[in-house]
Amino acid sequence: MLHNNKRILKLTAFFVFIALANSLASCRGNEDSMTENTARDTISHEEEGIPFASQYAPTVFPGDVVTKLSEEELAELEYSPPIANNTTRLFWGDTHLHTHLSVDAYLRGTRLTREDAYRFARGKIVTSDNGMKAQLRRPLDFLAVADHASQLGILPRLAADDPLLRDWAIGQRWAKFLKEGNIVQVGVEWAESMSTSPDPKYLNEPEVRRSIWNDVVKDSDKHNIPGLFTAFVAHEWTSAPEGDNLHRVVLFKDGAGIASENIPFSAQDGDDPEQLWAHLEEYEKRTGGEVIAIPHNSNGSGGQMFAPVRLDGSEMNAQYAATRAKWEPIVEVTQVKGDSETHPSVSPDDEFADFESWDEGNLAQTKKSVLSHFQYGYARPALREGLRHESKLGTNPFKFGMIGSTDSHTGLATADEDNFFGKFGESLPQPTRYANQMFAVLNEGFWFGASGLAAVWAKENTREEIFAAMKRREVYATSGPRISVQFFGGWDFADEDITTPDLADTGYRKGVPMGGDLLTAPNGKSPQFLISAAKDPVGANLDRVQVIKGWLDSDGYTHEKIYDVALSDDRKPGESVQNTVDLQQPSYSNSVGSTHFNSIWSDPAFDPALRAFYYVRVLQIPTPRWTAYDEIKFQVNMPEEIPRIVQDRAYTSAIWYTP
Ligand SMILES: [Zn+2]
Ligand SMILES: [Zn+2]
Repeated sequence: MLHNNKRILKLTAFFVFIALANSLASCRGNEDSMTENTARDTISHEEEGIPFASQYAPTVFPGDVVTKLSEEELAELEYSPPIANNTTRLFWGDTHLHTHLSVDAYLRGTRLTREDAYRFARGKIVTSDNGMKAQLRRPLDFLAVADHASQLGILPRLAADDPLLRDWAIGQRWAKFLKEGNIVQVGVEWAESMSTSPDPKYLNEPEVRRSIWNDVVKDSDKHNIPGLFTAFVAHEWTSAPEGDNLHRVVLFKDGAGIASENIPFSAQDGDDPEQLWAHLEEYEKRTGGEVIAIPHNSNGSGGQMFAPVRLDGSEMNAQYAATRAKWEPIVEVTQVKGDSETHPSVSPDDEFADFESWDEGNLAQTKKSVLSHFQYGYARPALREGLRHESKLGTNPFKFGMIGSTDSHTGLATADEDNFFGKFGESLPQPTRYANQMFAVLNEGFWFGASGLAAVWAKENTREEIFAAMKRREVYATSGPRISVQFFGGWDFADEDITTPDLADTGYRKGVPMGGDLLTAPNGKSPQFLISAAKDPVGANLDRVQVIKGWLDSDGYTHEKIYDVALSDDRKPGESVQNTVDLQQPSYSNSVGSTHFNSIWSDPAFDPALRAFYYVRVLQIPTPRWTAYDEIKFQVNMPEEIPRIVQDRAYTSAIWYTP
């Protein structure tokens, strides 16, 4: 195109006219010379018949982009500035979505497939399982469909009477119940198999497991478009001994060529995370692949997710700590089944700690919550505990970054308050969903949060780059809105650094990004932090930016403190932002709050001898919760105690200081 433009500029007006007339004429008769717009239109008309990947086949691959120029090449640049070597971009995704291949999803009516899930994530209109058309306001950049490894993909095959499953006793029993419409019994037995695993009778034939997994990994490859959309190979490991949630999403960097060498490790193969890590170790060694495990719903773990001892009750040792830190660089801290950042009972001075709390008991509601469940079941106290373990063991087992994801079981990755498709079939949009119990027996629907998303700072939208960003923890969580947050720590920032046009370039050059480490403090200096936060371009303004500090004192006790770094509307500390929510519409107004904050903050109470971590939390102004939208859309009267207003938020991965 550029070449043509140059040529045309040199022509006289007469020749331009002739050239245009000729090209218009040839467009009519010759498909090859169609203008770009016409070509695009043709593709969208034919998209049903064209394989997804070829519709979006990129013309420029990430490998083609020059990101590092030699001195000679730099000297040759006459006009364009060189591409910034430090440039990262912000990508949004969901690492935790279920489809009809998950037993529980299928039982609750999910028939949407992986294909539907990807189409939806890419911004297409998809008909949900309650017949409603669904569409995201903005597409996602990446998606990991992570169906349960436990009996992965079995129910659709049993329903179709797959001959490979005729000798599997449990399967035939479930097939019979399904035919009789007795889904509750299948659900009960499936859930039971989670809390009493490992139990080989629940394992179906390796041949079947391999063939289902092959379909899964090939399908991920089909939807993975380097540079445009990343489709990760993933599954969930769903262990819940005694009903305590130890679930992890297992996420692969690899494509089908390598990941097909694996059979997904399920809770029936082993219910102890150490068994899962051993399996991952074996996979990487054998195949040269790369994989991580992402814990979720620590809030339902009955205090087991970040317990100070191993699952078998033995002492944590250095090897355990190092192994855990290796496989679990990030934790999913917010999702539809509640938020696990922290809880009022362990963060009593945090006025925003009680956020989308699922705090009555463990996942299966077999245990009522006690203090230790909060202490060892939430991320912030775990980050604190990590410092203590590190001082004893030399390695921090809980040095994790934070992301959000949906854990939606409907094939639809939704996390917006006004576009929320719930968790299971019974919580798809419908008048009674606020009262419908999850899986007919667990929490009522109003408990669900329209949450969350994973934000990743990476150089390219590829499996390799996003995976690498996850491993270095350059990621953060939001409870749904696309709040942009940059966060750098260093020792030598200057006040003017916060006003440079390329904040990230300064941040990377003079410091470390979220997820990074600050080591030995220069004499007399406190760590400084560059923080830039911007509202969701199509969402609510921001209330404030906070830094949350945790540290280990010299007596071995941990502490936390919350600093308000910036407040909107020239407020004084302690003053709340105005609530503009009108529940009758429902609506809110961006007449209050800030569109963005740029701050440089330095720790006023820094002690160079003490281990510490710092992370940023950004709060939105109050907006209507999904329940408020439901109340108006469906004209229902919900009980007074159901929350209708929410302060959605983002929290970053931490930066650690180690003396
Ligand atoms: Zn789970
Ligand atoms: Zn899940």
